[in-house]
Amino acid sequence: MTDHSITGHRTEKPSGKKGVSGGLEGNLNVEAMRRTIDTAFDIWKRKNFLWPLSIALSYAGCRIFNAPRGLIVEASTGCTGYCRGCPEPDKTVDLSVDIFEKVLAGRRFRPVTVHFSGKHSDPLASSVFPELVRAAASRSSMVSVSTIGLGLGESWEYLPVDRWILSIPAATLETWHALRGNSRLDEFRDNLRRLLHADRGMVELVLTLWKPSAGDTEAFHRLADEEGIGRRRVVFGRFDPDGHHLGRIENLALEAPGCPYIIEEGVRLIEEPPGCPLSGTVFLDAEGYLHPCPFTERTQNDYRVVSREKTGRLYEACRYCP
Ligand code: SF4
Repeated sequence: MTDHSITGHRTEKPSGKKGVSGGLEGNLNVEAMRRTIDTAFDIWKRKNFLWPLSIALSYAGCRIFNAPRGLIVEASTGCTGYCRGCPEPDKTVDLSVDIFEKVLAGRRFRPVTVHFSGKHSDPLASSVFPELVRAAASRSSMVSVSTIGLGLGESWEYLPVDRWILSIPAATLETWHALRGNSRLDEFRDNLRRLLHADRGMVELVLTLWKPSAGDTEAFHRLADEEGIGRRRVVFGRFDPDGHHLGRIENLALEAPGCPYIIEEGVRLIEEPPGCPLSGTVFLDAEGYLHPCPFTERTQNDYRVVSREKTGRLYEACRYCP
């Protein structure tokens, strides 16, 4: 199903210069911080001038009450990608608006960010996506959506989303077809244009590198230039140990420079990064259960314990997390 890259391993700087891998953590952190600040300024332009204050208050409240500052939300267990080799769930579950509102209302402090994403799912598959977005917008400082960009419903481009992150697994029709078994790049581009034309939130484009698309970086930059998108990233696809989805071993771009994985008695990370790329967040699944992140099992409620476990990368899924 989806190829979300929220924890993707970066391969290139947006300028197109060769990037980093492995040990240059200092540069990576500086780059990540620069991107965060850039993003915040871009969003602020569309908000009222008191928005930074609202962020600061939410952030301070979360710190004081030891609550996660970010909520990653699976809007649906369904997907709109229909990729070859990716099984559809027997029964698709959409997160109920009622449950979502109760989770938000149950917090002592509103989260700084609500980020709609998925695991083997995509937010745009939810039949109540607009209602979920509106609920998030009224109870958080910032709403973002990570999606494969297929299945954008009527007028959804006008929803109060501050940041759209659109991921593609390939940048040419041929490589897209080789990976997904269908040819929907044009449909993706139509939806991308709708979002750009509506101009309600910033739009960021991400290419996730898989084996068939390992050579697509230049085509990706051309595509982004044609669409007039400055915010772009290239990341590596994440290994999925259950082997049913896009992150299967045979899809990993193992030969590409900077790939975080190596095959040595199975797949393993070449170098384990320090800490957790999703620290400060928890994941709400479509059935209403909280997890430390989209890749781990359900969790207990004590966030202090969860936070320590995440920092120490103590979960089975952390073994494959770039
Ligand atoms: S908890 Fe582990 S698997 Fe989840 S994002 Fe953090 S490091 Fe990755």
